[in-house]
Amino acid sequence: MKDYYQILGVRPDAAPDEIKRAYRKLAKQFHPDASKDDPETNRAFQEISEAYAVLSDEESRRQYNSMGHTAFRSAGGQNRSRKSRAKQSGREERKTKDGHCGACEEGQENQAAEEGPPPKSIRLGVTLTLRETLQEVKKEAVYEQKIPCPDCNGTGGEKTKNCPDCLGTGYRRVYETVWGEKRETEIFCSRCHGTGKIPAASCGRCHGTGVLKKIWNLPVRIPAGAYEKLYLPLEEVLDSETLKKELAASGVFEREIYVFILIADEPGFTRKGYHLFTQVTAGYADLVLGGTLRLPTLEGEIEWPIAPGTDCAKRIRLPGRGLPRPVKIGGRGDQYVTLNVRIPRNLTARQKELLAAFQESLSGQSSPASEESKT
Ligand SMILES: [Zn+2]
Ligand SMILES: [Zn+2]
Repeated sequence: MKDYYQILGVRPDAAPDEIKRAYRKLAKQFHPDASKDDPETNRAFQEISEAYAVLSDEESRRQYNSMGHTAFRSAGGQNRSRKSRAKQSGREERKTKDGHCGACEEGQENQAAEEGPPPKSIRLGVTLTLRETLQEVKKEAVYEQKIPCPDCNGTGGEKTKNCPDCLGTGYRRVYETVWGEKRETEIFCSRCHGTGKIPAASCGRCHGTGVLKKIWNLPVRIPAGAYEKLYLPLEEVLDSETLKKELAASGVFEREIYVFILIADEPGFTRKGYHLFTQVTAGYADLVLGGTLRLPTLEGEIEWPIAPGTDCAKRIRLPGRGLPRPVKIGGRGDQYVTLNVRIPRNLTARQKELLAAFQESLSGQSSPASEESKT
């Protein structure tokens, strides 16, 4: 069986434009238009196109080289070139997006997922607490649908009407007496500033905007492992068949609507990506002698043994106690706990005495000179 390099007549280390030139030459030679319905020529043209589709795409060429011809073809690799598929037809492309064409699409899928919902789609923000990311949780998403006002058919009502002072003419006649003589003059109407129109009473229901807001309170079921900026199609997470039907009937699903996950900050926990940072205060004696600390985690407090002589500059790392990560990375982030030392205040005279004695014993011990003089 010929491999793709042989089909195009190029060496396996051929440069991209060498491949392009070879393809163009062969494509011209075997083009179906040039040879009316010769099955042999058509087959050759198919082979050439297939070979070029794989070898012209850097990623699929790399896969092809590492898998070998037979394995690549049986894995459906010849269909994997997104570029060539996209050119072929829209339907084929959709099939690829649905992930029917093997694991290699998965990476690209997730990459797309990180880019956020499609432009012009509607995002309904749903905020979760840190703990709510760990298990499936029921929340409410609110959607404000704009509907045409039924009272004014979306017009907002009459915008203007004729000025009653001037009867829509824009000016009024006034009579004044000049030198004892009555004269009639026309002046601009002050009420309508000479326009003859004044604002009309707009539609009382929509206040002249022509639209009404319909508020949908939508119960949604957010799966465990949600993370910030995760977006889920509303249809998938909506937890009410009745509302699903009502929304569909109201034409809401004509636009793409996503539930967009936000994570609320929580006192005591600092987030950096998927890692959490917390602090805990330990007694001086515990750090010196060793003991057990109680550390707050998303799953509640846990007991954490510390070795004698624990340095408070040391951070405790709790692997997998952070926030859920996207499926692509998997698992959860870590939690890091910073130790603070509790400084006792308002000591009794006795305590001060003991501490001073301890301090004194320590200074004796730590001096190498005195140690040496003993021996
Ligand atoms: Zn109205
Ligand atoms: Zn007027």
